[in-house]
Amino acid sequence: MRDAEFFRRWMAAAAASVAREADRLTELDSPIGDADHGSNLLRGFTAVRGELEGDDAAGTPGEVLQQAGRTLISTVGGASGPLYGTLLRRTGKELGTAAEVSDEDLRGALDAGVAAVAQLGGAAPGDKTMLDALLPGVAALSTSYAAAGDAAESGALATVPMLARKGRASYLGERSIGHQDPGATSSALLLRALAAVAEEEDA
Ligand code: ADP
Ligand code: MG
Repeated sequence: MRDAEFFRRWMAAAAASVAREADRLTELDSPIGDADHGSNLLRGFTAVRGELEGDDAAGTPGEVLQQAGRTLISTVGGASGPLYGTLLRRTGKELGTAAEVSDEDLRGALDAGVAAVAQLGGAAPGDKTMLDALLPGVAALSTSYAAAGDAAESGALATVPMLARKGRASYLGERSIGHQDPGATSSALLLRALAAVAEEEDA
């Protein structure tokens, strides 16, 4: 079972990973965007981390994720803030008020969270967005957390030949082909962070 501390560690690991990779995320957002994805997420996850550190040990898994989602929505400019905010808020809401949740609960909640991202952004698989990492990543959770991280990363790499149909990159049409989607790349970081925290806890 996973308690609130597990989810705080996940968010802290995601923040650390975003901080490490922020320049790369911004570079990926240069040819097919406006070169702000790394700085957007860095601002958001730095705020999330600050809030988690300020917390006492209270809270439930659902509250931790919902709080993080609200913080991302209020601090991240750009398309990715509301989308990641929705992912975490919806996942947190699905987890309910339990003090501890099972891996199966988390899997179901993340499914709902990803569906909410698809609904909000209107993107389909293959549109070259974060969904192209989130969907295969969350699907692979039924195998293991590590498999989810791997599948999300493969999904991010698979966005290179895609034509962008949503978001800023879609304005480029054919010229979006040949570049890796920044949001899919950060989604892989998020699932890799989850896998790392789970692996540490299960060791
Ligand atoms: P902005 O595009 O507003 O500058 P960011 O650069 O922070 O925002 O985020 C861009 C990423 O957001 C894209 O790489 C893509 O993965 C994701 N994205 C944009 N629009 C959508 C959408 N409608 N559905 C899903 N993901 C999207
Ligand atoms: Mg951008």
